[in-house]
Order: sequence, then C-alpha cells, then structure tokens
Amino acid sequence: MAKLLLGSEVTAALHEQYRAEAERLAAAGVTPALAIVRVGARPDDLSYERAAVRRAEKTGVAVRLCPLPEDAGQAALLETIRALNRDEAVHGVLLFRPLPAGYDEEAACAALDPEKDADGITSLSAAGVFLGSRLGWPPCTPSACLAVLDHYGVSCEGKRVTIVGRSRVVGRPLAMMLLGRNATVTLCHTKTADLAAECRRADILVAAAGRAGVIGEACLRPGQIVLDVGVNWDEREQRLRGDVDFEAAGRISEAVTPVPGGIGGVTAAVLVGHVVEAAARKAAAAGISLR
Ligand code: NAP
Repeated sequence: MAKLLLGSEVTAALHEQYRAEAERLAAAGVTPALAIVRVGARPDDLSYERAAVRRAEKTGVAVRLCPLPEDAGQAALLETIRALNRDEAVHGVLLFRPLPAGYDEEAACAALDPEKDADGITSLSAAGVFLGSRLGWPPCTPSACLAVLDHYGVSCEGKRVTIVGRSRVVGRPLAMMLLGRNATVTLCHTKTADLAAECRRADILVAAAGRAGVIGEACLRPGQIVLDVGVNWDEREQRLRGDVDFEAAGRISEAVTPVPGGIGGVTAAVLVGHVVEAAARKAAAAGISLR
C-alpha cells in the first residue's frame, strides 16, 4: 500500500515557519499583505480565494480583495494592478487566470511589479525560474510540488522525473526547478509517443495534465513517488479527481499525493509564504532589522 503524502502535513510545517517570520515582521511594525485580483466569479477561483484568505489570516498576513465584474474591461484591470504596484502596504499580488474572454492576459501580467509577483506570472519571474536565480518569484504550484518532496525527504538529485503536462503554470517551470535540483527531467504532452513508457521510467512522476485518470496502471511501477497536481471535477461521481488512477497508485507506487488533500492546499500556503518573504525582503532593503 502506497504511503500517502498529505498536503495537510506539509502545510502545517510551512505554516509554523511563515507564522514565525510574520511575527518577526509584525514586531518591527510591518504587516505582510496580499492583494487578490479576481475578474468575474469562477467557482474554482472563489474556492482558491477562500483557501488563500483562510491561510493568510492564520499566518498573520493581511488580505485585500479586489474583485472586478467580468465586464470591467482591460483598462480597469490594468488600473487596479497599477494601483496595487504603487501601494506601499501591499507586498504580493495574486491575479486569477485565465482571465475571461476579451482580456489581454499577457498585458495584465506584464503590468504587475515583479517584486510583488507572488504567483510568478511576470516574464521576469519566468526568467528567474529559467536561470535559477532570485529574480521575481517562482509560480506557487511547482513550488508546492518541491515543498511536498522536501517535507517527506525525497531527494531529486540524480532521479529520473517525468512530468505529464508542459503548461507555463505547472509543467515548464517545474521542469526547470527540478533541473536546478539535478534531476533528469522528461516533459510529456499530448504528442508524446509512448506516455506509459515515459511514465514508468520515472523515479518521481508528476501528473499535471488536467485529465482525470490519464495516469493509469500502465504508467506506474513499484518504487515510484507520484505527485498528482490534476484537479478535475467528476460530474458523474460528483467529486474531485486527480489525473492519477488513485486506486492503482495506492496498490503499485511507493507514495502518492491524494486529490483532494495533496498539492492543492500546499499551493495556497506557498503563496502566503511568498508574501511573507516579499515583505521581509522589502524590510531588509529599507534597513528594518528583524529579530
Ligand atoms: P493546461 O494548461 O491545460 O495544460 C495541460 C498540459 O497537459 C498540456 O501541456 C497538455 O499537452 C498536457 N496533456 C493534456 N492531456 C494530456 C494527455 N492525455 N497526455 C499527455 N499530456 C496531456 O493545464 P494546467 O493549467 O497546467 O493544469 C493542469 C492540471 O493541474 C489541471 O487539472 C489544473 O486544474 C491543475 N492545477 C492544479 C493546481 C494546484 O495547485 N493543485 C494549480 C494549477 C493547476 P499539450 O501541451 O500538448 O496540449
């Protein structure tokens, strides 16, 4: 039976670390603050927003909600982002994407100050991930994958890692971050010739395709660590499902993250951690000493 890699355990450990840092900042008169920009009211955005607000409040991070109606328009969105850039009290910004049809997402991402880019959506943050440098911030979901591996003591060095999914939000940045940890990385996508063989070869398998059950028994082998990033609503069963056949992974793999209860919750914790760190960086730059 595979070991369950539980997001709640990872989140609890991260929470202690971030709360301690937020308390040091508060003692120096700095309240880390996250602004959340949401255009429209997609149910999955609202659900992540609630999780982020809960996590932030527990950590001692203030939250400013900036909801815009779906038809607010590009100019209003850009003005909201620019106002948050200018606001000295805001340290990190989360912009929900994809934006509704008709919005220029690239322009919206480009408008954000990279220092406040808590979810790694700007080009500078992408460059930072690509170069392995501290420019901007890495996106939260790939960081959450690494946080889970770190928490459970899984080293990436010299390991074969297969990632299913090459999106800009998950697969690509995660590949770069794992390279930075000396893993040998394979990125798979819809044109991959033999997905099952690429998956079986992996010591660590990351599923981020957004297709329920696409990682079935044929993709798994004993000894694998399986991270399931996928979040899919199963209409028939009326529940969330990951990309991995959880029953097969439970039987075959060494360890697996459940859905829900795995990577998802850790993502919100990482977001809050980025805001705390952004506030600490800003305080350090201003010469404020933290005890
Ligand atoms: P996306 O932009 O739709 O990208 C999906 C990727 O998977 C694409 O690269 C696609 O290949 C590949 N793919 C799709 N079906 C495949 C198949 N049958 N075989 C091989 N590759 C396949 O999705 P995303 O935004 O990266 O999100 C992926 C999943 O992660 C979704 O379920 C999303 O809800 C979830 N997610 C979770 C979190 C979290 O915190 N837990 C955060 C973000 C996203 P092509 O490039 O060839 O099209």
